[in-house]
Amino acid sequence: MTMKVGAHVSISGSRVSSDDETPPYDDIRNAVHRQRAFGGNCGQIFTTSPQVWAQPEISDEAAEGFQDETEEQLEGPWVIHSAYLVNLCTPKDDLRRKSKESMQAELDAAAQLGIPYVNVHLGAHTGAGVEGGLDNAASLIDELEVPEDVQILIESDAGSGTKLGGEFEHLAGIIDRTETDIGICIDTAHTLVAGNDLTTPEAVDETVQRFDDEVGLEYLEYIHLNDSKHDVGTHKDEHAHIGEGYIGEDGMKAIVNHPDLRDLPFALETPTEDGRGFEWNIQKVKELREE
Ligand SMILES: [Zn+2]
Ligand SMILES: [Zn+2]
Repeated sequence: MTMKVGAHVSISGSRVSSDDETPPYDDIRNAVHRQRAFGGNCGQIFTTSPQVWAQPEISDEAAEGFQDETEEQLEGPWVIHSAYLVNLCTPKDDLRRKSKESMQAELDAAAQLGIPYVNVHLGAHTGAGVEGGLDNAASLIDELEVPEDVQILIESDAGSGTKLGGEFEHLAGIIDRTETDIGICIDTAHTLVAGNDLTTPEAVDETVQRFDDEVGLEYLEYIHLNDSKHDVGTHKDEHAHIGEGYIGEDGMKAIVNHPDLRDLPFALETPTEDGRGFEWNIQKVKELREE
């Protein structure tokens, strides 16, 4: 089976490159071409600017074109990453309402684009407590109208402050509470800094086993594959180039070849610095992969 690996790419309308082979779309279809240019065959997008409250605006023509080109040119599934302002756990009414509207718009955009997943962080309970925060998140999720063929994925978090999702217990807790059929996305950098060792083959095996015991591997649908600039248990969220952070080559190699993980889609959210971008990082992942 071909490895499913790709990057978080922009959907902006500007040309992918000056290369004449790149079709000059002015819409989301460019995401497919960016993905291919990086060497990816699946991946992630934002549908809007993630730092502000905004509604996705995608024409039906662009959405259909995006679906056609995805089918022709890519292997694995796309995932939409929700806006950063969304906080499912919040006890504040106004933030809850905005979070709900934003999530509903992302779910509808996913259906329009034929994208099977919308990825979201649980958010911060800001005083509601772990149990209260999880209750808030579950009830918000259950108020959403999730289109057929679209699934909400809860992303593992670095777990700083009152943010939930760092502990596997929180991921199990949201699955237990909601009546909606949700899945999980593990972000390897977040999982490491939240306190789960991923630095050696033995540690990866132990962490995967513990995830299976506490949450269940059957819920794991996607992996954000990132190395980390910070060590186990620091709760600091800064991604590093694959193999060059605290997870390192041994840990990364164990992750991308682990029998329980290797067939899942991997999306990279690695930095673009030191003259290296997604192309370099995807190539690195392919080198670590054993067929
Ligand atoms: Zn995320
Ligand atoms: Zn992530």
